[in-house]
Amino acid sequence: MLVAKNNTELFNALAAARLHGNTIGFIPTMGALHQGHLSLIAESQKTCNITVCSIFVNPTQFNDKQDLEKYPRTADADLKLLSAANCYVVYLPSVDDIYPADWICPEFNFENLDKVMEGAHRPGHFKGMSQVVHRLLWLVQPNKIFMGQKDFQQQTIVKKMLEILKWKTELVCCPIIREADGLAMSSRNVRLNKEERQQALAISQVLFQLKKERFSSPNIFCKWAISELEKQSLIKVEYVEIVDTTTLQPAKNWNDAKNLVACIDAKVGKVRLIDNVLM
Ligand code: AMP
Repeated sequence: MLVAKNNTELFNALAAARLHGNTIGFIPTMGALHQGHLSLIAESQKTCNITVCSIFVNPTQFNDKQDLEKYPRTADADLKLLSAANCYVVYLPSVDDIYPADWICPEFNFENLDKVMEGAHRPGHFKGMSQVVHRLLWLVQPNKIFMGQKDFQQQTIVKKMLEILKWKTELVCCPIIREADGLAMSSRNVRLNKEERQQALAISQVLFQLKKERFSSPNIFCKWAISELEKQSLIKVEYVEIVDTTTLQPAKNWNDAKNLVACIDAKVGKVRLIDNVLM
């Protein structure tokens, strides 16, 4: 595995790979890697000759300073996992590699995609996220980018960005990998204490209930889910919404859109967790 610690090392590694006509799959991450991230690497390896994974905790997408400071950083373990997964290049840029003084970050008009759900609760988050993904895509120039359905709104916005830029990179959205009991894997899960970890299970459980029970409308489900989640003393719900997978606008009726996704954001103790199910 090649470890590129700056842009020059990345360019050298990729130039050699491109000379041989290889296709490049790219997985941007913030590290503290788990099986969810590794599933994206495995998906890339199915169709791309070269897999590049970046690890960069992007300061501009954190609106909460404490969340940024507490974000888990496990560099040595990450490198071991990526090497065992046969990742071809791991790119570990510095803030200056990503945001050099002469780099102008474009502003995108995502219409309403970045205003709802996470956008409404984390001001500036999607501006920071789209800037870093844009810069990373510009540096890596992959054929495909692999992102998780876990961050449903994020992948929708990146898809829109590729459309706006008319870039040919294909976005592949990969399913959510869960713990055996259903909790969606997340780098933030390591911050949960035993009781929080137990209560966090309610998030996936209310979502799974959608597959088992007929709720008369999306709103009835959302109200029920909030009341169930708030029975847990350590959970504070940010939102529960059922939205159109394309526009991210809330559905009033089950047949409002061809495809709907139910999304939850809740704080468990001090840890913000998100999860969703496609319907
Ligand atoms: P992060 O390191 O949290 O920025 O995530 C990097 C990528 O991994 C994003 O595309 C996430 O959606 C994806 N990801 C995170 N958790 C999971 C999971 N449990 N299953 C599948 N993909 C995930």
